[in-house]
Amino acid sequence: MQLNPDIVIIGGGLVGLSAALALQHPDRHISIIESSALEQKVATGLSARSIALSYASVQIFKALGLWDDIKTTACPIKTIHISSQGEWGVTRLQACDYDLEALGYIIESATLGALLLDRVRRSKLISLNTGAEFESAHFSDKVKLRYRCQDQSQEIEASLVLIADGTQSKARSSLGIEHRTVDYAQAAIITNVEVSKPTPGIAYERFTQSGPLAMLPLGRNRYACVWTQDPDFSRELMQLDDEEFAASLQRSFGYRLGFLDRIGPRYSFPLYRTEALGLVKDRCLLIGNAANTLHPVAGQGLNLALRDVASLTHLFEDATIGSLDGQSIKRLLENYQSSRVAEQRQVVRLGDGMVSLFSNDLPVLKQFRAGALALLDIVPALKAEVAMSGMGFSYAGNPMLRGRMR
Ligand SMILES: Cc1cc2nc3c(=O)[nH]c(=O)nc-3n(C[C@H](O)[C@H](O)[C@H](O)COP(=O)(O)OP(=O)(O)OC[C@H]3O[C@@H](n4cnc5c(N)ncnc54)[C@H](O)[C@@H]3O)c2cc1C
Repeated sequence: MQLNPDIVIIGGGLVGLSAALALQHPDRHISIIESSALEQKVATGLSARSIALSYASVQIFKALGLWDDIKTTACPIKTIHISSQGEWGVTRLQACDYDLEALGYIIESATLGALLLDRVRRSKLISLNTGAEFESAHFSDKVKLRYRCQDQSQEIEASLVLIADGTQSKARSSLGIEHRTVDYAQAAIITNVEVSKPTPGIAYERFTQSGPLAMLPLGRNRYACVWTQDPDFSRELMQLDDEEFAASLQRSFGYRLGFLDRIGPRYSFPLYRTEALGLVKDRCLLIGNAANTLHPVAGQGLNLALRDVASLTHLFEDATIGSLDGQSIKRLLENYQSSRVAEQRQVVRLGDGMVSLFSNDLPVLKQFRAGALALLDIVPALKAEVAMSGMGFSYAGNPMLRGRMR
C-alpha cells in the first residue's frame, strides 16, 4: 500500500469498491483497507444474494465504464407486478410506459462484486489492501489511520477518509458518531428457486399477511426470492425441509410462475434499519451501510449509496484532494451531507411506509392497500411517481445519472 494516499476507503464491499472507481483521478491516489480476503468472499459467501439495480444505478455504472460487463450477466426487469395476498388490487409498472429498455436489472451480488474487484485490481490509481483490519483514527493535520495486517500494526495518513465498513461500522464508533437502530421485528429468508413457468422480464413484489415477498428474475427459470416474515414464523420456515418450505412459499406466492420446482439453500436474518446520526467528522465521511442500512423490501440500499457516491464524485470533480486543507474538505463534506439528507430521508421513509402499510393486518389497512394498488394501476401520474422514485430519478442534476462522468 502506498504510504500516504490522498483518499483511504475503509471497507471494500460493493459501496467501497464503487466509490474507489468513481473517485479515481490522475492527481489522486486511493487506498482501500479491507479486513476480509475479498476473492474468497466473492467466490462463496454472497452467492445466494441478488441485487436489484435501479435505472439510476445503471447510469452510474455506464459512467464508470462498467455497464457493458455488468449487462452481460444481469437480467432486465421490464415489468414490476405488485400484488397483495388475498386482496384484489394489482399494479404493473412497465418500462415501456417510460420509454425505457428496463426499469432495472437483477444481478447476483457475487458477480457484481467480482466485476468491481477486477476493475479495482486493474487500476493503477487504486491500491487494495485485503486482510487489513481498521483499528483507530487520529486527527492531526490529516487523518492517521491505524490498521492491523498479518498480525502487524500499521499506520497511514490520508486527506480524505471514506468509511464504508458496513452496518456494524467499527470506524463509525471509533470516530464517536452515534447511530440509531430501528428494529422492524421481522426476519427475511432469502433463497433462489426454480419455477415451472418463468415469465421473462417480470419481477414480482407480493405483500403477504406475514410480510413482503419478492421474486426477482435471474434468467431462464431461476428466481431470487426475498421473503420477509415475523421472526417466529421465519424460524418455523427455516426448520421445514425443502418440500414443505416450497409448499408454504407456493401458498403465499400463488401460481403466477407455475410450480416452484427446486429450492436453493436458505438464509435467514433479522431485519433492522440503522442510521448514523451524522455523516461527517473532520475529513471523514460515512457512506453505504455504515451511513444507512435499509430494509431490503424496497431494494434500495446499494442504489441509494451509488447515488451518494455519484454526488460525492461530482462535488470533488477535479479537486486535488491531497492539497486541500482540513477546513476546505470539511466544508465540501458538509455541503455533500446537506445535499443528500433529503433524498436519504425520503428513501428511508418509503421503506418504513411500505413495511407498516403492507405488513399490518388491520382490516381498514387491508382495504386501503388493495384500493391503493388498483388506483396506482389506473392513474399513470401516480404510477410514474412510484416508478421514478424506485428508479432513483430524484437526483437528475448529476452527469453520472445520465451515464457520463462530466
Ligand atoms: C436480503 C437483502 C437484499 C438486498 N437487496 C438489495 C437490492 O435489491 N438493491 C439494493 O440497492 N440494495 C439491496 N440490499 C442492500 C445492499 O446489499 C447493501 O446496501 C450494500 O451491499 C451495502 O454495501 P456496503 O459496501 O456499504 O457494506 P458491506 O457489504 O457490509 O461491506 C462492508 C465491507 O467492510 C469490510 N469491513 C468491515 N469491518 C472492517 C474493518 N474494521 N476494517 C476493514 N474492513 C472492514 C467488510 O469485510 C466488508 O467487505 C439488500 C440487502 C439485503 C440484506
